Amino acid sequence: MINISKTKALGFVDEFGRFTDMKTTLHNTLSKAVMEVASGSTDFNTAMRRTVETLGGSGIRVNYGGGITRRLDSAVRQNILWGAKQASNEYNEMIGEELGCDGIEIDWHSNPRPSHEFMQGKQYSLSGKKTVNGVTYESADRALAALEDYGCLHIKTPIILGVSEPRFSEEELAELNRQNSEPITINGVTKSGYEWKQGMRRLESAVREQETIKATAKASGNNILADECDERIKAFKNKYNEISKATGIAKQPDRMSPSKPQNVLTNNTNGIIMKKNKGLELSRYVNSSDRLYEYARNITPLDGYEDQVIHGDKYGFEIRDLDGKTASVYTPREFAEILRRDPNYHGGNIRLISCYAGAEDGNAAQALANQLGVDVLAPNDVVIVYPDGSMKIGYDGKGKWILYRKR
Ligand SMILES: [Zn+2]
Repeated sequence: MINISKTKALGFVDEFGRFTDMKTTLHNTLSKAVMEVASGSTDFNTAMRRTVETLGGSGIRVNYGGGITRRLDSAVRQNILWGAKQASNEYNEMIGEELGCDGIEIDWHSNPRPSHEFMQGKQYSLSGKKTVNGVTYESADRALAALEDYGCLHIKTPIILGVSEPRFSEEELAELNRQNSEPITINGVTKSGYEWKQGMRRLESAVREQETIKATAKASGNNILADECDERIKAFKNKYNEISKATGIAKQPDRMSPSKPQNVLTNNTNGIIMKKNKGLELSRYVNSSDRLYEYARNITPLDGYEDQVIHGDKYGFEIRDLDGKTASVYTPREFAEILRRDPNYHGGNIRLISCYAGAEDGNAAQALANQLGVDVLAPNDVVIVYPDGSMKIGYDGKGKWILYRKR
């Protein structure tokens, strides 16, 4: 399922600089992880952690040939993300064939690699250049080839040409692309958004590395080295925060955690996993195997609100089990009680990312606002969360956020 043919000369360099070919081991371990993530039996972070541990810990580097080596956890992260994306695209393809789709639409995300910008948000024909209802669609060939580039996380969705409304109008795309292409200067250094984003990825990796060294140093009683690591981590994080603030690129603190068991609270009776994301104003009451769980982490926080992500309808909320079936149902009063005991909820106003919670003919959001004595912002229709964290309310995009004040 996973294509790692583009990673040349796979193997590990041990602490003595010896290179060991472990292509088969790596391939098998990664395939297993990709399968688990794609089938939903494991969440991304767990699969990633397990894979890194299986392969021998996070201090190892993967040799890509040509003098390029990368930390094992970075390589594993990229491989699993890419493999899962491919699986998702294959699944979409199958659905598309069943529905008789003759085109694809590529998603849009901020700061893509420059060579992929051309296809962002565009619709393409699968049978060569074609005009339908006066609109000309280019052939999908070039986009399909770009999607195969290693590490590409663009998603293609099957569409019916002339019927499926594009998610973005030409004007919206032009504006979004303009924002992407604007160079950003920080402390006299000017780079594109993509370059700054890559810089943030490198800093995340550097923090992980220092955290690993620090853990080893501490275990061996070398407090001087541990303190030095702390200093470096602080410096890296300052730089990281500075870039995020200047560019608006979302921070991903999870990526800084070294690959060892993280702070995960597991409630095995119903399969909920609540992640302790300190500093990240987001609580997800969704199963870790739910795609929403992954996507929600990309949601841009809204000033003055704490996000709560949970499935629901206009009268209440529900938590689903690993198969996506309803495991427990909560009234707004019960959910308020859960939130009061949630250490990640700080008692502020809530943006409730829950389908229909703000529907005018229901009471979920209003009741939650009354129970907690805070304001609740909620969608009046289904809320669709995209992989990049952007949201749409209503299948036609015409729904809206409604503010329910405590009464
Ligand atoms: Zn891409």
